Amino acid sequence: MKPAPEELPLSTNGNPISLDTAQDTVPNQVRVCIVGSGFAGLGLAIRLRKAGIEDFVVLERDRDLGGTWYQNTYPGCQCDVPSHLYSFSFALNPHWSRTYPLQPEIEDYLHRCADRFGIRPRIHLDCEVQGARYEEESAHWKLDTTKGQLSCEVLVLAVGALSEPSYPAIPGRERFDGTSFHSATWDHGHDLSGERVAVIGTGASAVQVIPNIQPQVGRLSVFQRTPPWVLPHTDRPLTRFEQRLYRTLPQVQRAVRRGIYWGREALVLGFTKDQRLMRLPEQLAKWHLRRQVPDPSLREKLTPDYRIGCKRILLSNDYYPAFLEPNVELVSEEIREVTNRGIVTMDGMEREVDTIIYATGFKVTDMSVARVVSGRDGHLLADEWAPSPHAHRGTAVPGFPNMFVLVGPNTGLGHSSMVHIIESQIAYVLDALRIKAERGLSSLEVQRAAEQAYNEEIQRQMQGTVWTAGGCSSWYLDSTGKNSTLWPGFSYEFRNQLTRFDEESYELHRLPERSPAAP
Ligand code: NAP
Repeated sequence: MKPAPEELPLSTNGNPISLDTAQDTVPNQVRVCIVGSGFAGLGLAIRLRKAGIEDFVVLERDRDLGGTWYQNTYPGCQCDVPSHLYSFSFALNPHWSRTYPLQPEIEDYLHRCADRFGIRPRIHLDCEVQGARYEEESAHWKLDTTKGQLSCEVLVLAVGALSEPSYPAIPGRERFDGTSFHSATWDHGHDLSGERVAVIGTGASAVQVIPNIQPQVGRLSVFQRTPPWVLPHTDRPLTRFEQRLYRTLPQVQRAVRRGIYWGREALVLGFTKDQRLMRLPEQLAKWHLRRQVPDPSLREKLTPDYRIGCKRILLSNDYYPAFLEPNVELVSEEIREVTNRGIVTMDGMEREVDTIIYATGFKVTDMSVARVVSGRDGHLLADEWAPSPHAHRGTAVPGFPNMFVLVGPNTGLGHSSMVHIIESQIAYVLDALRIKAERGLSSLEVQRAAEQAYNEEIQRQMQGTVWTAGGCSSWYLDSTGKNSTLWPGFSYEFRNQLTRFDEESYELHRLPERSPAAP
């Protein structure tokens, strides 16, 4: 039987790759240049091909495609968005092994998409963008990369928000003589067996790392600055029957996906409209903690003092039980410094360790690519975005014509799948490309006034949300305390705004007609 169009042939070995990617040097000139090959870059590449646009490249600085799902391979790495929501709408995956997808199968899924839609030959791996400048005379972007120079009409930054590991500014970090690494750059060559290990951080990565390494290590010290809210996890294996059902009747999987999507949209009411609605999940999280941690003093240390949802809500059934194991210690005393042999807390106590694992998150509002992209007038994107990143509809930045950002400022979600946001932005970019081509335009640049008005409205909506008024600090907030990362509403509202390219918010330019050559 012919496979259903949405069906993606998947192997389950997690390592299916035929490295049939692009040649070593980049072409001199293309129409569209995409930076990044995660869900966003790959998704745009696929949609370009579906729209009949073949003249593009994908530049990936890593050794393989996948973005955050290539980089993050720490033990227990799993997405906290349900599997059925975590795929492109045009390539559902009936083969997910669990209701929440594991990192290897997400990476595998992205590879299958690259193969199925013929994107691999367009991807240049190990290709880092070292400079990108907009040249007004030609209305083209000029890029310097580690694989050569190229020029493009349209530049799309699809580098994601979770791609630059962030290390804490703890004094003495460089003095440590043992092994240390970040959760996003896990050292698989290093054996933790029997070691004294410190994990710094108790966010989304740490809650997955901690229970997974606990049985292996000799002693585990978890350094917690702020306790997270943790809800019971409903993750379970998907049965063969379910997988077969989704394979043969994709419309059933689509219906399940729709149900999950709308169920999650309801959470926005508590996040943004009425925080009293967050009392219910808060009670559930407290019950979960009481049930799993009998010791009142340990429980107290693990109890958050801010509203649930202010930081990302975590899901785990094995995080709290890890602290009941005799080889695990929760350290809630603030870290003073790192020495050559361990970590000293403010009370003066030093814990000697062999390995330090930094599960300390990402540089979300300070991406390195912004330091090498300069727009009209030579203005750096990093300067435009200091101290608060901003963009029109999360996608276009004034002063940076013919450039789009996927997963840009104020596009993040605390409740649902980023793939939904990414596909919305892709539709917007495709509409912009269509208008540019149909009208013979040389450049599109968002008007500063339109962009400012858009962002004032975003910040107005942000007031009183759980992220700004929930009593915590988080990576959602930039150095000014402004939430420049999350979308403050329902994700369908974001999609509705981006279905059409709002050309009235842009300066549209044609290249000046060439005067006939002088005799
Ligand atoms: P994170 O949520 O930013 O957590 C970083 C942790 O490091 C926090 O506990 C933070 O404490 C702590 N920290 C930072 N500096 C510190 C210092 N100087 N001393 C002590 N502790 C310090 O980072 P993440 O866990 O990598 O997650 C980032 C985002 O990635 C998540 O919010 C999520 O969107 C995504 N993610 C998703 C999954 C999933 O799908 N399951 C898994 C991993 C990551 P404070 O809370 O006090 O700042």
